[in-house]
Amino acid sequence: MGYDIERFLGYVNEGLLCCICRDVLEDPLQAPCEHAFCASCIHGWLVHHNNCPEDRHPLAVTDLRPLHRYMRNDLNRLQIQCRNVSCGCAMVCSLESLDRHERDCEHRRMSCMNAGCPAQFERRNLDGHLAVCEHRSRECPNGCGFAIITAEDLQHNCIAELRTELELLRSEMICRGEETKQEMESRLDSQRRHMVQKESILQSEIEELKSQMSRLMADVRALLASERQHRQDIEQADLEKKELMELLKGLQKECRLKTSDGIQKPAIVRPLMRLESIKRKPKEVTII
Ligand SMILES: [Zn+2]
Ligand SMILES: [Zn+2]
Ligand SMILES: [Zn+2]
Ligand SMILES: [Zn+2]
Ligand SMILES: [Zn+2]
Repeated sequence: MGYDIERFLGYVNEGLLCCICRDVLEDPLQAPCEHAFCASCIHGWLVHHNNCPEDRHPLAVTDLRPLHRYMRNDLNRLQIQCRNVSCGCAMVCSLESLDRHERDCEHRRMSCMNAGCPAQFERRNLDGHLAVCEHRSRECPNGCGFAIITAEDLQHNCIAELRTELELLRSEMICRGEETKQEMESRLDSQRRHMVQKESILQSEIEELKSQMSRLMADVRALLASERQHRQDIEQADLEKKELMELLKGLQKECRLKTSDGIQKPAIVRPLMRLESIKRKPKEVTII
């Protein structure tokens, strides 16, 4: 529904009136045929019709557009009285700023916000009413913290009230303590399980390392023994070599003597072959 034309000061252009309610356009929308309507008026019409109410041209909600800008400007500039004029508000303002004024209008009728209070008054009397409202809540004048809403509440027993409050607090504390305890216990439990798991993993790792170490030790012992054996073999070979060298020297000396005596050479061939085979022996040992 639009704004009652009686509220406007001065002349209002015919084009700024709603084609349905004939009041001044409120939240205006325009059809392709240029006819303008209040948003609520045309939406209501299109629920049961599919044409323009003025010229019966086909019309759907999706065809509606905002009002032309120049018309919107004309509309916004119109001077209108506050809706609370009957309550004494003398405000006249542009249509554009009407909403802002009416929200804050001191003459606006309003209801008391205290639950159960039926009082209605102008906004400017709000503070005055709240100070005396029968339904407002106050704290006990004796300082127990009890909220006094009705006259009967004034007869309450402060000590009983405080005792109830204390009991509530105590049970809440016990409850919270219990919760904390349970949470700590479950956390400890899971940590303990975790530790046990870790310990068994570490234990098996230690066992594995131990067996690896004993295998290594056996290998080292075997290597040491074979090295000792090799050294003995080399020493033995050196001894034999020395002996053979002695033998060879002796034979050569003898040979020289015999040659000078006219005896054949081939006699020294065999000892020399034996020497060669001994010389090769230490080499084979190091390769192994
Ligand atoms: Zn209208
Ligand atoms: Zn039309
Ligand atoms: Zn007002
Ligand atoms: Zn009240
Ligand atoms: Zn009290």
